[in-house]
Amino acid sequence: VITAKMKDVAVYLRRNIKELAKQTDKEVIRIMEVCGTHTMAIHQFGIDTVMPANLRLLSGPGCPVCVTGSEYLNAAMNLAVKKHVIVTFGDMMKVPAQEGRTLASLRAEGYDIRTCYSPIDALRYAETEKEKSFIFLAVGFETTIPTILTMLELAQQKQLDNLKVLLDFKRVPPALELLVSDPELKIDGFLLPGHASIILGEDGYADFFSSHPTPCAITGFEALDILSGIESVLKQIVTKDPKLDNQYKRVVSKTGNVKAKILIEQYLEVSDAHWRGIGIIPDSGYRLKNQYQRFDAQTAFGISITHAKDEESCPTCSSTGCNEGHFCANILKGLNTPPECPDFGKYCNPMNPKGPMMVSSEGSCAAWFKYNRRGGNDR
Ligand code: SF4
Repeated sequence: VITAKMKDVAVYLRRNIKELAKQTDKEVIRIMEVCGTHTMAIHQFGIDTVMPANLRLLSGPGCPVCVTGSEYLNAAMNLAVKKHVIVTFGDMMKVPAQEGRTLASLRAEGYDIRTCYSPIDALRYAETEKEKSFIFLAVGFETTIPTILTMLELAQQKQLDNLKVLLDFKRVPPALELLVSDPELKIDGFLLPGHASIILGEDGYADFFSSHPTPCAITGFEALDILSGIESVLKQIVTKDPKLDNQYKRVVSKTGNVKAKILIEQYLEVSDAHWRGIGIIPDSGYRLKNQYQRFDAQTAFGISITHAKDEESCPTCSSTGCNEGHFCANILKGLNTPPECPDFGKYCNPMNPKGPMMVSSEGSCAAWFKYNRRGGNDR
């Protein structure tokens, strides 16, 4: 329900944003959101269409499905072909991998690939169908990681040895470091992800902020949350006084979710990770500690996921020999907006996605397609 008071606050915040944008000495101000849910919310509420002309809202690599490489998906498909049962969140099903194959197309061929709403569904399958081998596609940021680790903890308690994970976890703070250091992007500030911050807490960004003091606001997902976050980041830009401002105090604490952090500490150690369209980001991922390697599908089944070198690979699918030249990599980094991709809405649409950002419910191309299809304010 949108009340008259909320409308007044939105008008007030928008006016402040306009005033602040006039006061900067920057020709163009670039604020990036690194969270797929923010991307969707910004477009759903039309926030992008009411910003001052010199303020750009950039969508960064904040959708976990979008940043998962096609080599990972190929590994999952190869395991399915070897008669392992793949369990995954629904968004992964239509993401194209090499040669346009998807998990959905493989399922149509008769392989056992199941979608779930919670990792606990995978646990139930493993418990009730002990003769089968289940592999959960464990992708995601700090938000999702603890629930997957809880699944492993329960699998351990129940002594299930027919449930493994194909792991591709990502950490947000190292990605922020890479993005803010990229001279092409020229990022002036970040809207920090609300969900991941519930786990990380303000403290989770301390290392990033001390090495790269950047205007930042931890922000929620309602229209007023996002407008307040933008206003906060702009104030910091104008005053040249960067802060780690928590605008989502109703759920994000200073220390974050301590229980979840203990779980992460217990099971995982930091490792490098591959991000689709970006490449390897040092320390931006996790792997299972040695004592939990028995849950790791790569270790258990003797496979290893090798990513093509960026310069050799297609920016869309990260595979060699494709080179179709789609814009996916540029979109993931916030260098372009989806309508600038020549395939947007034509050869690439939600019914026939060429890249993951058009598939995922948190993808920036899907957001633009759903809410700004003609490239502007068409509400
Ligand atoms: S419109 Fe499709 S091909 Fe173009 S960047 Fe988006 S997902 Fe990639």
